This record gives sequence, C-alpha cells and structure tokens, in this order.
Amino acid sequence: MPDVPVSEALAHARRRLTDALAQAGRDSDAAQLLAVSKTKSAGLVRQAYGAGQRDFGENYLQEALDKQHELADLEAIVWHFIGPLQSNKTRAVAEHFSWVHSIERAKTARRLSEQRPAALGALNVCLQVNVSGEASKAGIAPEDLEALAREVAGLPNLRLRGLMAIPAPAVGLDAQRRPLAELRRLKERLAERLPELTLDTLSMGMSDDLEAAVLEGATLVRLGTAIFGARAVRH
Ligand SMILES: *Cc1c(COP(=O)(O)O)cnc(C)c1O
Repeated sequence: MPDVPVSEALAHARRRLTDALAQAGRDSDAAQLLAVSKTKSAGLVRQAYGAGQRDFGENYLQEALDKQHELADLEAIVWHFIGPLQSNKTRAVAEHFSWVHSIERAKTARRLSEQRPAALGALNVCLQVNVSGEASKAGIAPEDLEALAREVAGLPNLRLRGLMAIPAPAVGLDAQRRPLAELRRLKERLAERLPELTLDTLSMGMSDDLEAAVLEGATLVRLGTAIFGARAVRH
C-alpha cells in the first residue's frame, strides 16, 4: 500500500506538474500526467480514476490485460503501453491499447498497423530513442530515427505522435536535463525533416526528473512512484 491515499499523491503530483510548467514559462495545460500503474493493483488504478486521472501506463502485457478486464466499467480510461514490446505480443497490444510509447523497430510497427482493429481508429505511437545515458538499452539510435519515422508515418493504422526516452537516473537538474534536451532536439529536427507530420508529443520525465523534463518541453510525464508509491520490485 502507498504511504498516502492515491488521491492525495495525485493531487501532489498535479501541483508539481503545474509548478514545473509555471517555472518553465509554459501554459498550465502544456503537459499531462500519465499514471504508470505497473505492479500496482486494479483497485489503486480505480482510485486514481476516481480522482480524475484518465491516462494510465502499463509495461507488462498480461498484467495490463488482467487489470483492463477488471476495470472494463471505466469508460473514459486511456491505456498506454510503455514497456518493451516483443513481436509475438503486438496483436493484443493493437487490440487493447490507445497508445504505444516504445516503438523501436519497423517490424513491430508494421505488425501493430496490420493488427489494429479498424473500429478502434489509429493507434497513437511514439518512437523510443536511445539518447545518451539511456537506462535500458532499449530504443533506436538517433542516427536511425529518421528512417524509422518515415516508415512508421507511412503505416495506415498508426499515428506517429512523437518521441519517448528513459534516461539513466542522474543527480542534479543539469545532468538530468542533458539527455532530455537531446530528445527535444531530435524531435525538432524530425519535425523539420518531415513537416507533413504533426509531432505533438515528448514522452519523458518520471517521478525523479519531472521538473527537468518539463523544462525541456515534455508533454506527457510518466509518473509511477509519485502517484502509487514505491514498487516492491525495482523496474
Ligand atoms: C516504471 C516506468 C515509469 C515510472 O517510473 P517512476 O520512477 O516510478 O515514476 C515511467 N516510464 C517507464 C517506461 C517505466 O517503465
């Protein structure tokens, strides 16, 4: 159980985000909270939903499907897949999520597009980039980003929204900002090279580096610990 009720933690997280946006001189609605609920119960997700949270991020497919099943009555909930995605899992992801943040291969993207049910509309996707100091080794190398973006942009049932990264933990605002600034610049360059796209999403910033991410232009900050408390297992 978290130390404080989810509604309180969520209110605190919202204040942190609002303060960070003000500090950065950005509009108060320029970034949104994605509540990362991996390893946390459906009951806690329901509490967050009750407190007004709509977007939730999950990393593990089976765990996510179980929660979605339990929470099927929450009609406005929006599920984001943010974990590593193997190609044998693409069908379930295409059928059960609105967003995928962790696209790093054209093959996965092609499968998601083919398997996306027409009735659900386009699947929103971000390309995960391995910026300097990426904590996991996941993500596409910056030099390969444009080619992947061109391919994904051409897929009929995906909508390319932007970029995502998971920088390695760093201490201090300046060290935290460096890889986040790199992701922002990569998105700006991509927008110049592919002006026909509307890239409106920078998925970056977690519980420990939200302020740095907002300073660098994050539009979707992915908070787990700050909303649901520490996880039993480090992920
Ligand atoms: C777990 C996770 C988060 C949330 O991390 P916290 O430090 O708990 O806020 C965000 N993004 C991804 C991709 C994650 O796997």
